[in-house]
Amino acid sequence: MGGGEKISVQTMWKSPICNLSHDEIRELGEKIRELSTAGCDILRFAVPDEESAETLCKISKISPIPLVADIHFDYKLALKCIEGGVAKIRINPGNIGSEERVRSVIAAAKNYGVPIRIGVNGGSLDSDLRRKVNNGEMTGAKALCQAALREAALFDELNFFEYGVSMKASSPGETMECNRLFAEQSDAPLHLGVTEAGPLIRGVVQSTYALTSLLREGIGDTLRISLSDSCLNEVIAGKEILRVCGLRQEGVKIISCPRCGRKGFDVHGFLQRWQPRFEAMTKNITVAIMGCVVNGPGEGKHADIGISGNGDDAVIFKKGTIVWRGSAKDGEEAFFRILDGDF
Ligand code: SF4
Repeated sequence: MGGGEKISVQTMWKSPICNLSHDEIRELGEKIRELSTAGCDILRFAVPDEESAETLCKISKISPIPLVADIHFDYKLALKCIEGGVAKIRINPGNIGSEERVRSVIAAAKNYGVPIRIGVNGGSLDSDLRRKVNNGEMTGAKALCQAALREAALFDELNFFEYGVSMKASSPGETMECNRLFAEQSDAPLHLGVTEAGPLIRGVVQSTYALTSLLREGIGDTLRISLSDSCLNEVIAGKEILRVCGLRQEGVKIISCPRCGRKGFDVHGFLQRWQPRFEAMTKNITVAIMGCVVNGPGEGKHADIGISGNGDDAVIFKKGTIVWRGSAKDGEEAFFRILDGDF
């Protein structure tokens, strides 16, 4: 992460993992593989207790992507995950308890070659920073930045440089401000995200507003779109934000019409059924899903391949030229046969 590496997309698992059976761990491994295929580069898990730490160590052994242990309060859980082969640890030094405990986590991470994400948030600011924010002497963003710089100084002092930083702010404005301030003063890799951004649409809008500005300024090394929604949608949103910033090109670009009174092809249903398959493809192509034959092939003529239709009939087109006609029933199979064969 950082140093010119591609910007990674992260999400966080949304269920507890304590006491999972052998079969449940295997099923979880499959789900991680699906997320990885959809473009997830790094997956974080909450580790609130010893059972979760043990499970995460087991899952790490079968995961195709690096897993991160998210630790609050109990530094011993961090030590257990580091020793158990978890790829990365996320701690909030402000709530780990004492500098001595943070030092022992850093020492173990150094020993095992495990990177750490320093995650600071407004709820665990040092009392002097908290007072200044409450008195109006300092913005919340500046306090978050100061808190992150203080924590990073300890890591530097111990010659441990395998760390990244995240600052948890729940408004796009504060997210932009604290990350800009930090980037002016440190080269440490930054994890971007608007925390508690909300349900799907609100969360994506807020995150896009903040993150596209930062990314276009060259700030940010990894990101998570934090949504009250599925991990898959967090990954898709993260990929699309990178795509719109010109920072990630690979994969299928979907063009689809909103549908209107002229519609003859079920665009929404088609995408609901097949979007995960498109997200899993590594082909660098544009696909158009259009609601009517009157405008579909014409409007989708820049697409490598597209599908449209009218009632019981479907058409498949390449660069706007119709290459297949048939029943809507056979259309989907024909579409993927042509797509898989020709691209
Ligand atoms: S492609 Fe057809 S159905 Fe879709 S929005 Fe345009 S006119 Fe309406």
